[in-house]
Amino acid sequence: EAKRGGRGRWACFTPELHDAACERLGMETELRQALMREELVLYYQPVMQAGNHAASGQEALLRWRHPERGMVSPMEFIPVAERIGAIHDIGEWVLQEACREAATWPGHLTVAVNLSPVQFERSTLVEQVRKALALSGLEPSRLELEITESILLDTSQRNIHTLRALKDLGVSIALDDFGTGYSSLHYLRSFAFDRIKIDRSFVNEICSSQQARAIIKAIASLGASLGIKITAEGVEDLEQAGVLEREGCSHLQGFYFGRPVDPMSMQPSCR
Ligand code: C2E
Ligand code: MG
Ligand code: MG
Ligand code: MG
Repeated sequence: EAKRGGRGRWACFTPELHDAACERLGMETELRQALMREELVLYYQPVMQAGNHAASGQEALLRWRHPERGMVSPMEFIPVAERIGAIHDIGEWVLQEACREAATWPGHLTVAVNLSPVQFERSTLVEQVRKALALSGLEPSRLELEITESILLDTSQRNIHTLRALKDLGVSIALDDFGTGYSSLHYLRSFAFDRIKIDRSFVNEICSSQQARAIIKAIASLGASLGIKITAEGVEDLEQAGVLEREGCSHLQGFYFGRPVDPMSMQPSCR
């Protein structure tokens, strides 16, 4: 069956593989057009201060409102956007849209934007951030950029330089999903992060695992002495929130406080 098409033709060894390949090509083509067709939307999830549970900001989370597939998760399409290079344009749109939206909020609220490691491969990133701030008029101190440890694996130091250039714009830098990758104290020494976000896999276990709890406690204490805000991600109930506060986390984020929603559905105090 695979040979039937002859040389240079698609080799569809099994119907399943064929479907997967076509599915992938379809997604790639559609994703390239998604921006122009205005199918991408940003949802926002609140980040709360420990103690008083007041919102200190919102994290922008990308969604693809696909005409047939419905709402597509960023976990599905961001890797595709990274592979085909569409992440650069999409990332620029996210920056501009999030800054524009945040400029309409009360002045004490910040907005966090996730950056893909692939966005660091182009020297245009710093310019994109500067432009998003200028177009929106948002105060730089109200924008926080979330990166993951993988960009720090780069041995050339280039990404560290880019991070410093971003920080020189006056924005904050957060280390996302802390504890999942190659977490190393070395990274905390090589760059002055403003915030560490403890991955929700630790938070999940906080009520059942002494280890998870001890690790969170240690990170919180590290944050306190280094002057780094510590956000616990994925807080789903009051019991977890209580433990995280007692262990010293400065901020909490999760479904318990609010799911990501479109800007129209945000609480009045947050928009
Ligand atoms: P992330 O930055 O770590 O975002 C947190 C994810 O956890 C979000 O998933 C959020 O909806 C989910 N979450 C929040 N609270 C809870 C909770 O209490 N329980 C559980 N089970 N989940 C919770 P989402 O929106 O599907 O985003 C997944 C990932 O996609 C993000 O992880 C981020 O890495 C990436 N992403 C999202 N938006 C963007 C974007 O604009 N650009 C880039 N490059 N990546 C993005
Ligand atoms: Mg994030
Ligand atoms: Mg995270
Ligand atoms: Mg993540």
